[in-house]
Amino acid sequence: MPDRKYRVVIVGAGISGLYMAEKLKHTGIDFTIYEKADEVGGTWRENTYPGLFVDVLSRQYEFLFQPNYDWSRKYAPAGEIQDYIKKVARDRDLRKYIRFNEEIVAARFAEGRWHLTTAKGETDTADAFIVATGFLHKPVYPNIEGRESFAGPAFHSARWDHSVAHAGKSWGIIGSGCSGIQITEALAWEGCEVTQFVRRPQWIHIRENPRSTLWERLKLRLPGQYAKKQRELWKFIIEADQWRLKPGPAREAMEREYRSYLDVIRDPELKKKLTPTYHLGCTRIPKSDQNYYRAVQLPNVHIEARRIAKIVPQGVELADGARLDFDVLVYATGFDTHTYMRPMKVAGLNGITIDEVWKDNVFSYGGVAVPGFPNMFLLYGPFAPLNNVPVPIGLEHEISYILRLIAEARKRNAAVAPTAAATEKFRARMRAAFPGTVWVGCKNWYSDQEGTPILWPLPQDQHEDFFAEVRMDELDFVPARGQSGREAAE
Ligand SMILES: Cc1cc2nc3c(=O)[nH]c(=O)nc-3n(C[C@H](O)[C@H](O)[C@H](O)COP(=O)(O)OP(=O)(O)OC[C@H]3O[C@@H](n4cnc5c(N)ncnc54)[C@H](O)[C@@H]3O)c2cc1C
Repeated sequence: MPDRKYRVVIVGAGISGLYMAEKLKHTGIDFTIYEKADEVGGTWRENTYPGLFVDVLSRQYEFLFQPNYDWSRKYAPAGEIQDYIKKVARDRDLRKYIRFNEEIVAARFAEGRWHLTTAKGETDTADAFIVATGFLHKPVYPNIEGRESFAGPAFHSARWDHSVAHAGKSWGIIGSGCSGIQITEALAWEGCEVTQFVRRPQWIHIRENPRSTLWERLKLRLPGQYAKKQRELWKFIIEADQWRLKPGPAREAMEREYRSYLDVIRDPELKKKLTPTYHLGCTRIPKSDQNYYRAVQLPNVHIEARRIAKIVPQGVELADGARLDFDVLVYATGFDTHTYMRPMKVAGLNGITIDEVWKDNVFSYGGVAVPGFPNMFLLYGPFAPLNNVPVPIGLEHEISYILRLIAEARKRNAAVAPTAAATEKFRARMRAAFPGTVWVGCKNWYSDQEGTPILWPLPQDQHEDFFAEVRMDELDFVPARGQSGREAAE
């Protein structure tokens, strides 16, 4: 019999929060989603810059419970991903659980429950608190003198200003990560005057992105076809990602292939500016659908490797004193990737705060929980798979495990958190797995202050295995006296 009194609050209505909601719906547990914006989608609502396409196969990014037969391309444009997420929310009737325009600013565990406060000053309580706030949502701006003095429009890639017409303007794009590459390429082919500032060149995957044909879309609808295609896809992905985990011929062949993409660059100086000096895969690999290396050779495109010393009203001043003038500046400078749910103030057992616990480094048990924070569950927290397990598969593992933890805790009229010892053991296992993987040996946004990347460094089957079993000896249960369901039963 579902116990409607037990209550879960989810924070965030991006892919993770919606995925959790759909799974919770089937347990009969009462829940609410708080979303600070006015729409679902998270990343895909916020990022609308030109040239944004999903960097994995579209089919690899589907919620496992909601097939989509109609992707327009092998790698869908961002708007299509956002439409799909909205459709999932609609088709699964999830919108009715969402409180839009409600930001949770504080969460405190006291008397066995979570006490939540919104930005509007309202309060709520929950037996379990699910943090689905994403890890790429707090834009980082470059710390360059004079940034506020620029006279024209200037915005972060995740805050694209669509009122600014592209044509006839000179654009300065600061940043050479995934967003900077995609924006430069898109504006370049539109014929805009573009200068991209590239301090550290990236390995770029030059790929084909064909439209899907009517026959391909129809075929997926034939009996058994979709399931067969997905089975083949998951098998392919597991094999295709092995090169990231261990050195060997597969990795060498991959690096040779990526190096060969640079061969279309005719000017040796330009080629040098764009040739990475670290190994392939150490940073997230930008994807180029319209051949970035050809785009940067257009006469309207300039790659600038000199350091920006200062931003001035007309544009930028370089370290050597030269001035470059622009109509528009774009900060494609990424996100604060280790912020997670913050600036939300989170306090666990005995008032200990997440800021204190994560003072030196962010960490978790399995990417989903933190000792001292009972019944707080993270989706895609520190050490979640970011590169080698597709997002929906990672979420399936995490969510089914969290639901089992909730069930165990409810059986005991308790709230559950991993023990400190188990968390340390887990972190040691992660640290031990990194040598030999591609993620070590360069500066990347995954790495914590000690240089340990906070992603999953093991094969996908070990991610599944980790979550297959609830290891009771790795968990602490604390009384949850305030559970309304229990009170009602007593
Ligand atoms: C430009 C860009 C491109 C990307 N491309 C890919 C890709 O191609 N493939 C891939 O696998 N991954 C990609 N990613 C990673 C992407 O972030 C994840 O795949 C996924 O979308 C994360 O979903 P999420 O629900 O966990 O987080 P988000 O999508 O970040 O959603 C979090 C939600 O929580 C809300 N929220 C946050 N704090 C609060 C609060 N305090 N109160 C209330 N609501 C709150 C936010 O408004 C947001 O709606 C990309 C990321 C970016 C930035």
